[in-house]
Amino acid sequence: MRTVTLIMSFGLLLPLFFMQDYTKLREEMVKTQIENRGIKDSSTLAALRKVARHSFVPKAQVHYAYEDRPLPIGHGQTISQPYIVAYMTEIIKPKPGQKVLEIGTGSGYQAAVLAEIVGKVYTIEIVEELGKQASTRLKELGYKNIEVKTADGYQGWKEHAPFDAIVVTAAAEFIPPPLKEQLKDGGRMIIPVGSPYMTQQLMLIEKTGNKFTTSSKMPVRFVPFKRSQ
Ligand code: SAH
Repeated sequence: MRTVTLIMSFGLLLPLFFMQDYTKLREEMVKTQIENRGIKDSSTLAALRKVARHSFVPKAQVHYAYEDRPLPIGHGQTISQPYIVAYMTEIIKPKPGQKVLEIGTGSGYQAAVLAEIVGKVYTIEIVEELGKQASTRLKELGYKNIEVKTADGYQGWKEHAPFDAIVVTAAAEFIPPPLKEQLKDGGRMIIPVGSPYMTQQLMLIEKTGNKFTTSSKMPVRFVPFKRSQ
C-alpha cells in the first residue's frame, strides 16, 4: 500500500521536477547570456524570465531550448538566439499599453516576449503552416493580446497602423517603405538589413515627424525576408 502511494506521488511530482528544471535553465540563460551582456531593461528581463522558450521549439529541440544559439523550427526557419530576442525587445523601449508589429512570427516566441510587456502585438508570418502553429501555440499558452496573420509582411498591417514599434525578424535587403510609413511619430523599428545568407546589420530606425534616423547596431545573421509572388 505504502509503495503504491509512493509510486503515485512520484508520478505526480515527476512533471514538477521537469518544470523546475526549465525554470532553473531559464534563470541561468537570463543571467549568463542576457544580463551579463548588458541588457538592463527590467521589463525585458522579466519577460525573458517568464516565457517558457521550450514551449516554442519542436520536440527534438526541447533540450537545447535555453542554449546560446538559434534553433531550427521547421520550413528552413529558426527561432532567434535568446540574446538577440532580448536585444531587439529592449531597443524598441517597450511600454505597457503600446501597439507593436512584428514581421516574421516563426515560433511565436518573440511575439510572446513582447506581449508580456506591451498592450497588443500584431504579428505576420509568410509561411502559412508556421503562422497557424504559432497562433495555436500562443492561444494554448493563454496569450489574448497577440494577433497572428499569414501574409507577406512587406506591406505591414495597415488596419492597425500606426505602431509604437516594429520588430522585423527576417533579413531584408532594404527597409520596406510601408513599414516606415506605419511607424508612429516617435516610433522605433529594429530590422536586420543586408544580403540573404551573409552577415547583416541590425538597424534601428527612429521616426520623428517625417524624419527618419538610422543607426547600425551590430552584425547579425537572420533568415531571408521573403516576398510573396
Ligand atoms: N520571431 C521568430 C523568428 C522567426 S525567423 C521567433 O521568435 O521564432 C523569421 C521568420 O520570418 C520565418 O518564420 C520566416 O518564414 C518569416 N518571414 C520571412 N519573410 C517574411 C515576410 N515577408 N513576411 C512575414 N514573414 C516572413
